[in-house]
Order: sequence, then C-alpha cells, then structure tokens
Amino acid sequence: MMIPARKVPTFRVRMRKSQHVFSAGHFITLSDNLCEPVHGHNWTVACEIEGPLDSHGMVIDFILLKDTLTGVLSKLDHKMLLPTQSRLLRVVAENTEITVLFEARRWIFPADECVLLPISNTTAELLAMWIGQTLREHLASAGVSLFGLLRVEVDECLGQSAVCEFRNE
Ligand SMILES: [Zn+2]
Repeated sequence: MMIPARKVPTFRVRMRKSQHVFSAGHFITLSDNLCEPVHGHNWTVACEIEGPLDSHGMVIDFILLKDTLTGVLSKLDHKMLLPTQSRLLRVVAENTEITVLFEARRWIFPADECVLLPISNTTAELLAMWIGQTLREHLASAGVSLFGLLRVEVDECLGQSAVCEFRNE
C-alpha cells in the first residue's frame, strides 16, 4: 500500500530558554476540604508555535517570541499567585491587602505583591493556560496573529510539568 507523501510541509518553532523562569508563591486546593500550605516554585516555561511560514521563511521571529514571553512571565515573577475563580478559596481585595479564606484558615498578603489570575486554581496546568492566552494577546498587540498550534509547558519542579495546547483553526 502506498502511503501518500504529504505535499505541504508543516513548521514548528520551539523555545526552551533558561531565562524563561519565574519564581512565585502559590497554594492550591487538592479537594473540597484540602488546601496546600503556602509555598513557592521556580517555574520554567517552554513554548512551541506551529504555523505557516511568513515571507522571510519564519513561523515567528525568535527574538519577538523570546522578549514577549519574558514580558508575560515578568508579571508573575516574585509575586504571590492567587486565583479569582476558585469556588473554594475566597479572595477579597481591600485597600492594600488581599485576604484569602478557606474554611477556618485565613491568609493576608500585601496587595502589591500579589497577582490575581482569572483561573480556578493556580495549578501548573491553569498557569500554562493563562500564560498561553496572555502570550497570544501580547503577540497580537505586536501585530503577530497565531494560526496554528500554540503549546505552553510549565515545569514546577524539575521534570514535573503541565502542558496546555491551543489549536487555532
Ligand atoms: Zn506548588
């Protein structure tokens, strides 16, 4: 049986650079009545973009991608990451403080050291999703629209990572 040759090649760029790291605090809910203590990670982020080549033979300019991803991650670096869509954690912003409530537990953080993220839990999976969405928005602001696959991998502990993929049809 003949296997038809693919007539149109596809292209993908990958970026995994040592500078794409952010250090931040978080804690996640593991079940309806179980919540981790506050801790932190040095998250490393890698991404892949698949798409058609531009008139210069590139899927995307590596420097633009590198700098844009650096900018996205800088919003998370040295911050406490808090989810605003959790059904279990109540996050209340008041003046210069943010209070988080879970059952009888309470945490209070300085507001300017927190980032409130529109996700339900600050898992590596959902952080990868937020980073991917934000990366796509920032690239669009720079005039670059993504047409193919966008894949973001967030590693929270060497070799322990989550992947979020967006397929733009
Ligand atoms: Zn953690």
